[in-house]
Amino acid sequence: MTLFFWSQRIERAKQLTGTYPFASEILNFYQEIAAFQKELYESLVTHNSTQKQNAYKAIASTNFEPTFVLSWFPRLLELVRRVGPVKVAQTADALAQKDSAQWKNLIESCWNHQDFAGGESDSAEPFLARALLQPCAELLAAQTDPSWPGYEGYICPFCNHKPQMGVLRPEGYGARRSLVCSLCLTEWSCRRILCPSCEEDSSDRLTVYTGDQFEHVRIEACETCKAYIKTIDLTKNGLAVPIVDEIATSPLDLWARAEGYQKLTFNLLGL
Ligand SMILES: [Zn+2]
Ligand SMILES: [Zn+2]
Repeated sequence: MTLFFWSQRIERAKQLTGTYPFASEILNFYQEIAAFQKELYESLVTHNSTQKQNAYKAIASTNFEPTFVLSWFPRLLELVRRVGPVKVAQTADALAQKDSAQWKNLIESCWNHQDFAGGESDSAEPFLARALLQPCAELLAAQTDPSWPGYEGYICPFCNHKPQMGVLRPEGYGARRSLVCSLCLTEWSCRRILCPSCEEDSSDRLTVYTGDQFEHVRIEACETCKAYIKTIDLTKNGLAVPIVDEIATSPLDLWARAEGYQKLTFNLLGL
């Protein structure tokens, strides 16, 4: 199994730091988180002991027993306390004072979808839980059939979490739309005209906004439920790495919020 995609994300974040200086702080933080996640992912792949196998396999079951994953949580908290934005670092500090039973509750809540609803988040706890769980969920998803033939829903077919973003990929003379899961990063096909929040499919209720600053990233907003999602258009920029470009284009989120829309799912950094 290749670890190339982790390096690709970190490299893209570095590159965008130069392109979008306003996002350099958040992109530097993302690089630290991604490096941590890469190490955790590598550990899950390469250490093949029964204990570790069971630990991450259990994530997909209803009896979630995150022993091995939890053993990495103190390292994540220490990292975030050291290099995270103030609010997130304070949350990590508070979490570090709690015991492992409380950590386990938090991780299980994240796995059970109680995370990242739209609107302003009061706490960075869900972000920290997701940063820890994401590599495990991504590895599990990578071990399944990635194509999900025939599936066109708006919830992840692997882990049932909401999508983080949309992606447009070249197909024929046009583009094919897919959605990317906010937890396991599974990508699946989705109809072009569909709100992934309320399933609105009337084209006059779904609006696309683009700006000059980010020609390959657009806001797709629903006038029925007022949710929005960002879509990375790879037909316009084939070098984009969706999870990173989504984070780097935070001014679009500020604009969408000012227009009265709520993000369907906060990204890994809680934006
Ligand atoms: Zn998923
Ligand atoms: Zn909607």
